[in-house]
Amino acid sequence: MSLQEDLKKNTGEEEKRLRDRGEKSFIKRKREVRAKMILFNSSLALIIILIVLVGKVVSLNTADNKTETVSEKTAQEMNKEEKQEESKEKSKEQEEQPEPEATKMPEAVQTAAGGTSRWIRKDLDANKPMVALTFDDGPYAPVTNKILETLKKHDAKATFFCVGNRIPSYSDVVKKAYNQGCQLASHTYEHKVLSTAKKKQITWQLKKTDNTLQNVIGCHTTALRPPGGFVNDKVRKTVNVPMVCWNVDSEDWKSRNTKKVLKRCNSIKDGDIVLMHDLYPTTAKAVETLVPKLCKKGFQLVTVDELFYYKGIKTEAGKVYFSGK
Ligand SMILES: [Zn+2]
Repeated sequence: MSLQEDLKKNTGEEEKRLRDRGEKSFIKRKREVRAKMILFNSSLALIIILIVLVGKVVSLNTADNKTETVSEKTAQEMNKEEKQEESKEKSKEQEEQPEPEATKMPEAVQTAAGGTSRWIRKDLDANKPMVALTFDDGPYAPVTNKILETLKKHDAKATFFCVGNRIPSYSDVVKKAYNQGCQLASHTYEHKVLSTAKKKQITWQLKKTDNTLQNVIGCHTTALRPPGGFVNDKVRKTVNVPMVCWNVDSEDWKSRNTKKVLKRCNSIKDGDIVLMHDLYPTTAKAVETLVPKLCKKGFQLVTVDELFYYKGIKTEAGKVYFSGK
């Protein structure tokens, strides 16, 4: 073999070796790439599966929320409907409520002043100053009883404008007030603002209270205090007794403070009608001081019917009175 041939052969072998080595590394690389591809693909598949799963969970949640919102809305609507239905039924009930027997005031006991003789003492001095203390929104035994105690102690009378639906719970205190010579009058059955009520409702409120009171004390009411003092033409035409408002407001419901109540009552004059509420212990406490103070000043503490009677005021049904002046 010539040197040239030998060189050629060596080069060929070298090339072959190199080629073999190259192929091997190519195959190795190819394998590596394939492995990476498999890893990549399976990761991708896993990610897709995860995305799909998350997507499903989210969509399920949203669906749940939607259902909740819908059911909430339905519940709200149902509630609203129920309430509407209830109020319809209520107003229907009210309209269908059997009308109590007509309130007829026996002519025989009616005085010239329009009240009944039951509430009027005949032995008072018309020339001495008079004041009518009035108590609204009761009866309420814990407070009304205290006020009655004070009144009894000083032989003083007052007028209680009762909320009709409270009377059955406190019938004992109502009887006690009546037996003490205090006047029991109406403040409607449900503390109803009459100026915004229908004619039928006004009549119902008055008759129901009158009947309830009559069941306890055996006589009719002769005066009404319209809740809040709200009156209009419809009320004037419908109410069958005189309406008694006030000209001195103790604002006891507002202050609930004995000293403040007494201050508001500091300049009481002859013929005044004082507004108070037998709901607050602070009012009962104020009355404890006010009653003897007024008596000492020479005032006669009278019922509203007495005040009108002695002041010569001929009260009429449906008319509003603020004082005995
Ligand atoms: Zn009231």
